[in-house]
Amino acid sequence: MPLHNTEELKAAPTSQVESDLLNDKTETYEFPKDKQDPQTVYQTIHDQLILDGNSQQNLATFCTTWIEPEVKQIMDESADKNMIDKDEYPQTAAIEERCVHMLADLWNSPEAGSTIGCSTTGSSEAAMLGGLALKWNWRKRQRAQGKSTDTPNLIMGPVQVCWHKFCRYFDVEIREVPMEGERLLLTPEEVRKRCDENTIGVIVTLGVTFTLQFEPVHEISLALDQLHADTGLDIPIHVDGASGAFLAPFIQPDLLWDFRLLRVKSINASGHKFGLAPLGVGWALWREKHDLPEELIFDVNYLGGNMPTFALNFSRPGGEIICQYYNFLRLGKEGYRDIQTECYALGRVLAEKIAEFGPFKIIYDGDGGIPGLCWELKDPASSSFTLYDFADRLRERGWLVPAYSMPPNREDLVIQRILIRHGFTRKMAYDLLNEMQSVLNHFAQHPPEKSLALTPVGAESSSYDHSGR
Ligand SMILES: *Cc1c(COP(=O)(O)O)cnc(C)c1O
Repeated sequence: MPLHNTEELKAAPTSQVESDLLNDKTETYEFPKDKQDPQTVYQTIHDQLILDGNSQQNLATFCTTWIEPEVKQIMDESADKNMIDKDEYPQTAAIEERCVHMLADLWNSPEAGSTIGCSTTGSSEAAMLGGLALKWNWRKRQRAQGKSTDTPNLIMGPVQVCWHKFCRYFDVEIREVPMEGERLLLTPEEVRKRCDENTIGVIVTLGVTFTLQFEPVHEISLALDQLHADTGLDIPIHVDGASGAFLAPFIQPDLLWDFRLLRVKSINASGHKFGLAPLGVGWALWREKHDLPEELIFDVNYLGGNMPTFALNFSRPGGEIICQYYNFLRLGKEGYRDIQTECYALGRVLAEKIAEFGPFKIIYDGDGGIPGLCWELKDPASSSFTLYDFADRLRERGWLVPAYSMPPNREDLVIQRILIRHGFTRKMAYDLLNEMQSVLNHFAQHPPEKSLALTPVGAESSSYDHSGR
């Protein structure tokens, strides 16, 4: 959502109960003068929420939309637990710590039992922490050699918006390698061209938001090893494993992307994506203890006890962390592998069937990256409809299958993407395919009007642009 303004709120739909409740009030954005009984207010809000989408038909999001009843129960039991209050809730604190070391083990840290890491609100906060550690470590390296610390830069490919935020908020030059022709990912050659002594690190994304593909961490690491040997520049890698860090360990255990590579100094992941935890938890881990500069850690003693913390937030709910721990114990490697194997299989089925429709060319078919797929129009110039039209019609039936354009320099390429997550069933996959077929039949008889056809969904209708999530 954008920053809210009152103009938008005025336009918010109201329910019957709400219009009774709000009765003579003309402005729905005024702070209420009187109190109300809880049942009326609950019903009002409940009715408003019915107008939200059905999250199981949302094939745009990477985030958890299906949880077990036991997870709901734990969330309920944990509503009062503030994870920062480690003295009051030592069990919650111990659970968080265990999760960090289990992840360090999963990601092959050489010091899994003693390395350092923390939970966060998601990958975005984890990315800020990872970026800050890179910047501080670089500054130390520069100072030790009597060099300037004025102009840090960070190299990356087509990243999620959190890295744009990091660079702007923390004043680091962004060196974003643009897409070019068929190359939609970061490559070792493109990284090498942009490295200099002010490069604080390279961000490699395991599971690119736009196309779901994994970037080649191992190859980029080898290129940086070569650069080190050739020039003395020793540039660390941070892996943005928002999705992939909870996929690769179970599905592609031999893929070298994690702390097995000496150059990978830190990793972030979203517990609430393929970690399958409820919304609100991410993780940031460092390879070894000394990879996180001590100056970034604060010691807080006013909640009782002395607690080291590295976080942008202070108070935060503990439930998601506890549920993440539940998932680790409940699923183990075997359970995660089973769930994800089915997700990948459904992605491949959809890719196959969608290719058979005729007008579409599959860009990513669900193999080797994130479970899901994406496609483009084979021949956009002569097609009677655009992917925005296609997305619009599917949305009328409740399916959220976003269409969006690529970042520079492939803004001309419009694609459509489906994420397959836990809770999406074979039955739903076939329902969706039937719906797609009937939309295509409809287009054959009633080609959409051109004026609409050229307009991105987000610009015309009330839907939200999902490309960045
Ligand atoms: C989702 C995502 C993020 C942001 O993660 P949140 O958990 O939503 O804050 C960052 N990077 C990538 C690659 C992502 O997919």
